[in-house]
Amino acid sequence: MRKKKWLCGMLGAALILVSLGGCGKPAGQAGSGASAAVLSESGETAENGSAESVPEKTESVTGNSQNADPQTVSGSSEMAAEQTGSAQSAGQEPLTAESASQEAGPTEPAEKGITVALDPGHQAPDVDMSGQEPNAPGSSVMKTRATGGTSGTTTGVPEYQLNLDIALQVRDLLKAEGYTVVMTREDNETAISNAERATLANESGASVMVRIHANGSEDPGASGALALVGSSSNPYVGSLYGESSRLAEDVLSAYCSATGMADNGVITSDTMTGINWSTIPVMILEMGFMTNPTDDTNMEDPEFQKKMAEGIAQGIQNYFGR
Ligand SMILES: [Zn+2]
Repeated sequence: MRKKKWLCGMLGAALILVSLGGCGKPAGQAGSGASAAVLSESGETAENGSAESVPEKTESVTGNSQNADPQTVSGSSEMAAEQTGSAQSAGQEPLTAESASQEAGPTEPAEKGITVALDPGHQAPDVDMSGQEPNAPGSSVMKTRATGGTSGTTTGVPEYQLNLDIALQVRDLLKAEGYTVVMTREDNETAISNAERATLANESGASVMVRIHANGSEDPGASGALALVGSSSNPYVGSLYGESSRLAEDVLSAYCSATGMADNGVITSDTMTGINWSTIPVMILEMGFMTNPTDDTNMEDPEFQKKMAEGIAQGIQNYFGR
């Protein structure tokens, strides 16, 4: 395993999109979620779109914010203990003062000891990713190393740029919370295949890999976000299904709450190279449809992008916080 030489076309993998070359839609494997239907990849999606979108999931994320007091209480008892201790020694009252001031000044985030891999999908078209690579370790199925992705039909912005813009913001937010973040690319010129992205994440010590993409459809009415994970029967990552699903649900839910994007659910797909090569919980977030004028325009709005990044970062934190 770990052969980086195999070209890989992972990206595309995920993108079994039938039409637009977009990356998003896994044709046919809609799996689990009830909402999967919403995706209608092929185009028959009249009901797809915006109708049921936004409101669906807004309640979930807010749940756990009320348990603040227990911490406060135990915190003060710890401080009392410290004070007692210091009384006996050479009079180091500063202990209490120090801990108080640390809590007050949020400058240096405490290291969490958790590494997260972020994978902004695709790359610039001048990077040659046309070679082939195995769709999974040991597989004879070959796929393009990486595909080009979709682009905004209204804004004209390419998907690889949007993916990178959001991933970099998520990186910064997670770092500010004390996470270690590994990026598969931080510019548009990096030639890294889908299998190589997974391998990089596997070997980085990351606990999870979040792959960031945007969707495309022949139907301009198709809108909203969805997440993709390998199924429980996937011969390569089936054992990761539980954790990958939990990660996907957390990220998708927080993302949709933060942005108001329609939540099209978590779907399974076993054809994506970048998932099949993973040895850690892995998901793809399809942030929205670049072929939908509203999604496309929103996703290029700086204020909206901020919410997108905050939602993704919050979802990742929710996953580790449970
Ligand atoms: Zn994509």
